[in-house]
Formats: sequence, structure tokens, C-alpha cells
Amino acid sequence: MIPAIATVCLSGTLPEKLRAIADAGFTDVEIFESDLIAYHGSPADVRNLCDDLGLKIITVQPFRDFEGYDEPRRSKTFDRAERKFDLLQTLGANLLFVCSSVSPEAHGGVERLAADFHELGERAAKRGLRAGFEALAWGRFVHDYRDAWEIIRRAAHPSIGLILDSFHVLARGTDLNAMAAIPADRVFFVQIADAPKLDLDYLSWSRHWRCMPGQGELNLAGFMDALGEMNYRGPLSLEIFNDRFRAGSARSVAIDGRRSLIALIDDASKRAKRPLGRLPALPPRPTVKSVEFIEFSVDETERYNFTALLQGLGFNLKGRHRSKDVMLFGQGDIRIVVNSDKEGFAHSYNMSHGTSVCAMALRVSDASATVARAEALLEEPYAGAIGPGELELPAVRGLGGSLIYFVDDKSELSRWSEVDFEPVAETGSPTGLIAIDHISQTMQYEEMLTWLLYYTSLLTTAKLPAQAVMDPGGVVQSQVIEAGVADNHGGLRLVLNGSQSHRTLSSRFVTEFFGSGVQHIAFETDDIIATMEAITKNGVPILPIPENYYDDLDAKLEFDETTLAKLKALNIMFDRDAKGTFFQAYTQTLPGGLFFEIVQRNAYTGYGAPNAAVRLVAQARLVGPDTLPRR
Ligand code: MG
Ligand code: MG
Repeated sequence: MIPAIATVCLSGTLPEKLRAIADAGFTDVEIFESDLIAYHGSPADVRNLCDDLGLKIITVQPFRDFEGYDEPRRSKTFDRAERKFDLLQTLGANLLFVCSSVSPEAHGGVERLAADFHELGERAAKRGLRAGFEALAWGRFVHDYRDAWEIIRRAAHPSIGLILDSFHVLARGTDLNAMAAIPADRVFFVQIADAPKLDLDYLSWSRHWRCMPGQGELNLAGFMDALGEMNYRGPLSLEIFNDRFRAGSARSVAIDGRRSLIALIDDASKRAKRPLGRLPALPPRPTVKSVEFIEFSVDETERYNFTALLQGLGFNLKGRHRSKDVMLFGQGDIRIVVNSDKEGFAHSYNMSHGTSVCAMALRVSDASATVARAEALLEEPYAGAIGPGELELPAVRGLGGSLIYFVDDKSELSRWSEVDFEPVAETGSPTGLIAIDHISQTMQYEEMLTWLLYYTSLLTTAKLPAQAVMDPGGVVQSQVIEAGVADNHGGLRLVLNGSQSHRTLSSRFVTEFFGSGVQHIAFETDDIIATMEAITKNGVPILPIPENYYDDLDAKLEFDETTLAKLKALNIMFDRDAKGTFFQAYTQTLPGGLFFEIVQRNAYTGYGAPNAAVRLVAQARLVGPDTLPRR
């Protein structure tokens, strides 16, 4: 299968779109009719531009409302098709893209439609062209690929074939078994799109909510497997109508598009156990075992307060770097690196982001294979990556220019803390934190699908359905990605947040302070009352939760008076899901917007979403409109 893309996916003018498409490494493109019509230049100019960019035009689409007319409309429609053939020939394309009719004046009937396509085939053949037929999910008579195929089969003309579009097939839940029985040489073109599962009419769903493979919830694996079984070898072209992409950067959407196709074709090839495309096989997605460490960049002036906060949370100094101004703190299985060195990556990160998470390290099944996979997926590996110490940990660039390091059990890399750090004898008493539960990253709303694809194409992940959370300043969209979480523990749990409103804390975090990055880290305890008692006693400022919350909790009859009083005194919130119970509390927000969360999970699998609105109001109240320093 050959990766391709339709110009309709991207923002910008036609030349801007074509340049972004070529820059992302595509060689095949379909031009959306309205892009061509709006262009101030001749079709010959478009062809020259594509020639210069090394792009081959597959088709100009769509050709609408062709089949099923009575005379004299029928003859006129064929005249229209001839004009379209002229255009295709000027552009050097050879496929007329016919989508099923929605015209109220058209008629149905397999024989009538087959006869129309037979005649179209005769006319196309005279010019050395071909025509394909796509069943729109909202087509008037033809909205199922199986019916479209029956018409094509009866048209019995070598210049007439089928066009498949994953959205139209999967949105209606059409059975995929019939696909594999269609001869591959009769399928002229395949379009691919994913989408979230939504209860919308097909047209609105398709026009606004399509997304790149891997960003949605459609059964694209099943669709790809059916193409593989059919042995389809032609173009696999992204046709994505998405409001976010139309507002986003053409360059980054084109790169995401190519990345999504590389991963999609590779995944299908691995399932089929043979290559379905021309690209070399990717190293397999690694599994994530755990978060190895989190690295903060903290300058000298902030360091005292920041390390005091860590100690208040029960972390002990475990090591000092042998040559750099870097400290290692630990508690339970949690390792935190505090980097105040005056040179290097963390320092430059601190200059633009302030006290922030500049890197995280993941323990994966194979660190070097992970970076090789990232490279093949068009990520830029971080050149000359130096870890927190002397060992060179392989890394890739992550959100907001931060780094993700990889270590594994196989190599020297797993010994980074012994190699780089002089051990320090433990002092102070732990508070019962045992592991990192989740990491929350905040970003621009428009970036969310990019980072979703970044993680899901690189690592073995599962994604939860997106959720909307109410902030006093507007709605925050929240997307959870889990990697390697076994028995509700370990692995990596990431919460991606983004907001379209400029007044939410999420948006303010991004626009006023850091840019995109980690906003909070949640630590796990198995006794939240003991942990919060110790942390409170250590003087760590805890986010106050309003009295009303506990009155409401009391009314739910979950707790006896003593327990409720403890939860209230310690500002612990509670939630329950079908699997179990959950407790959570938050530190107050640091200047710059970062905060920590403490959680206890008892088989519970969520993230406390019902409490998020209460937490956000509590934070907004403390932060206030004017108290935060502007960057
Ligand atoms: Mg289509
Ligand atoms: Mg959280």
C-alpha cells in the first residue's frame, strides 16, 4: 500500500498544502475540488508545482451526482464527466472519483446504475483513464460498499472499479467479510480515516470529526486486515475532515498523517506476517514497565524551596551527581532528579519554562529499539542525548521540547543511578508514597491529537475515551493513555489535557507560564490518611477542599463520622467506580502552575474525574486572576 493524502486534510492555500505534503515525505496526493477551484492559477500551474515538489496527482475529487439520471439530465452528466476527464489529463491524473449520488432527481436500481458505469468506462477507456465508485454513508440509493461493488461487477468494464473509504464502511458498521472477496485489481483506490464514536448523523460526523488512524475509535485494524487479505497494493490515502486540523499547522498535520499511515501499515503487516507496503518494517512497539525517573529543571534560587517541598512529601536525598549540580531524590519506587546545573539541556529548558519537568525516563522492553522506532516514525531523536549523568541515555523529543529517555533491563543503561550518582545516606522519614500513579500533561487544544498519536504510535498503549471536565473558566478536554499498566499498577498512565477557552487553568498554564508540559504528577500511597497526616505535619501546603464537598459526601453515606472527619481535615476527596474506590488530595500550586497529587486506588481504574471540577475551582480560588506572575 502506498501512503497518500488528500489536500482537504490541511489548512492553508493549495500551494501551502502541497508543500507541507511533500515536506512530510508523501509522493502521492489527491486534490480536493474546492482547493483547485479557489486557486488563482491554471490546472497546468498546479501540475507544474506538483512536478517540482515530486508529487503525483492521483485524482481530483469528488465527482458528485453522476449515476441514475433520466434524459436529458443523463447526457448532460456525461458531458460533465468529459470535462472532468479533460481536467484530469491536464493534471496528469488518471482516476475519476465518483461518489454515490444524493440527488433527489436520481433513480436507483442496480441494472440502471451498472449501465451508467459501463458507459462511463467506455468513455474513460478511450482516453486511457479509469473511474471509481465510492458508496457515501449517506448516499441516496448506494450507501454500502457491497452494493457499490455489485454495481461495479455488473458494469463489467475494466476501466471501472471500486473505491473504499474506511469512514463510510465503518461508520455504518458494515460487515467487513465481503471486502476480502473483492479482487484487489478491481479496487482502484482506498481512503482512510478514523473517528471517535459519536452519536451524530453520518454527514456531520464525517465532515467535522474524522481524524488520523489511531486518533479515533473505529475498527481500522479490521479494515486493514480485510485489505491485507484482499492483497490490495494501491494508494492508501488520508481523507480527513477535521475542524482542529483546519485550524492547525499544515506542516504538523501532514507529518502526523504520514506517521499515522506508517504505523497503520506496519501494524497490519505484522498481523499479516508479510509486508503490505514498501516501507521497511518498524521495530515493534515496546512495552512500558514503569516510569524510571522524572527530571525537574530547577534554578539555584528555586532549588531550596523545591527540594524542601520534596522532603516535605517524604522524599529523601539518595545521591549527588558525581560531576554536575544534580540531585537524586527517592521514596518507594519513585525517583526524582533535580537538575540545577548551569549548562546543558535542563538549564536551557529552565530558562524558557521555569521550574518544570524537563524530562521523564521510561523503563521499556528495549530502549534502543524504541528510539529506532521513533526515528522511523519521523520523531527526531535527541542528538547526543546525555541523561541525568554521564551515561548517554537514548532519548526523543517530547511535549513542549522536553525529553523522554528510555532505559531497559538489558543494558548498562539500567545502572544510571549507580554510575552517575554518589550515594547519600538516607535521612528523614518517608510518608508512604510508593509509585508514580499518573502524569498529567497540559497542552494547546489543537495539539492534543498530535500528542495522542505520538504516544500511541510509539508505545504499546491503550487509550480511554476522551472526557470533558468543567473548569471555572471553561471546558477542559481530557484524554487518558495507559501503557503497561498491569493489575492496576506500574507502567505509565498519562493524562493529556487541553482547553479551547483561554480562561481555564489549563490554558493559562500553557499561555502564561510554561508552554505545553507536565502540570501535575500523582503519587500513589496505600494508606492515604497516614500519608496526608505526615505530609500535612511536614508543613506542605495542601489544597483546601470546600466544606460543601464533605456535606455532599456525607449525604452519600459512604463513611462513618470519624472517617469523614479525617478526610475533611486532610482535604482528601473520594470517588467510586464499578471496580472500586479512590482517594485523592493535592498540594497547592507552585508559582508557575505545577502541583502534586496523592492518590490511593482500591481497584479503582479512573482518575477522579467527578472531583475535577471541585479541584479546579479550589485551585482557581487560590491562584486568583492576578496573583500569578506572567512570563
Ligand atoms: Mg471519501
Ligand atoms: Mg490527577
